[in-house]
Amino acid sequence: MRGVVFLGDRKLEIREFPDPAPGPGEVVVAMKASGMCGSDLHPYRATGNAAAALGLGGDGGRVIAGHEPCGVVAARGLGVTDSEAVIGQRVMVHHYKGCGQCKHCRVGWSQLCPRGCVVYGMTGHGGHAPFMTVPARTLVPLPEAVSFEEGAAISCGTGTAYGALKRLDVSGRDTLAVFGQGPVGLSATMLGKAMGARVIAVDVGAERRQLARELGADTVIDPGADDPVRALRELTHGEGVEVALDCSGNSEARVAAVRSACTWGRVGFVGEGNKTTFDISQDMIRRQLTVHASWTFSAVGQEECARFIAARKIPLARLLTHRFDLDAAEAAYRLFDTQTTGKGVFIS
Ligand SMILES: [Zn+2]
Ligand SMILES: [Zn+2]
Repeated sequence: MRGVVFLGDRKLEIREFPDPAPGPGEVVVAMKASGMCGSDLHPYRATGNAAAALGLGGDGGRVIAGHEPCGVVAARGLGVTDSEAVIGQRVMVHHYKGCGQCKHCRVGWSQLCPRGCVVYGMTGHGGHAPFMTVPARTLVPLPEAVSFEEGAAISCGTGTAYGALKRLDVSGRDTLAVFGQGPVGLSATMLGKAMGARVIAVDVGAERRQLARELGADTVIDPGADDPVRALRELTHGEGVEVALDCSGNSEARVAAVRSACTWGRVGFVGEGNKTTFDISQDMIRRQLTVHASWTFSAVGQEECARFIAARKIPLARLLTHRFDLDAAEAAYRLFDTQTTGKGVFIS
């Protein structure tokens, strides 16, 4: 089979790989949708070992890209029972493989495994291929009401937004500022709205702000035209927002997120990479902030996110603006690297 491999320096290749055969406890998933996530741009653009730079380990060896895999079970290895996976079952993949036994793996947080974990699409073969082999325990059921494309989005970007909002305990009592309206930020806008919050979306891109409005943002702010901290204070009677979430990974946005939170406010970070300097005393301690650094979600959290989206009829499909065939991977990533409104997904 063929799979997409990032070579770094904004180059990728479609390479030939052996057809997958499931080992004991494993399944082969036939991909129906494999999403493009912002964090894919790190290995796509990198000159060195991007996975290591992001703290994901790995030896820098070339793997099939794609860490938002969604499809149907196509084959089962020895010992896989019907309760774990049935042929034809619609599934997402929790895109990490840990030891399966430690205290983190046992509660579904295999990415925290102290024995090391494989991150599919980064340090192990991912979803940008017709098939993917994973342990049956990484499968997450996909509700009937959720499409494969939406399942792909939930498998990293949208699930990450849900996981962060849950840790931030967002509710109808909150004004939520979401910095960055890429696929994760737009998801946070939609989900925050469904959780009852008043949502203010912050992004320099006019098209992104427009989409944020369409997806439920009450107000949008252009940080290129207005100081977002001042604008957010004006919108909250001078108090600041109860919750600020950075989905941009931009250092200025991170500082603005912290400064725009009210006293006793909560701040979350999900945007990856870079370094940022904060004035801890003035910006954090004096204002009693609670800060969450949030890395994706557990396998259980992924299932919960999908059920939430189905139950609330969240229009996640509207986030998916670009569909590609795997053969178009080069053009797809070139577009994603520069054109940045909505989200792309490979479908088969
Ligand atoms: Zn483990
Ligand atoms: Zn991701």
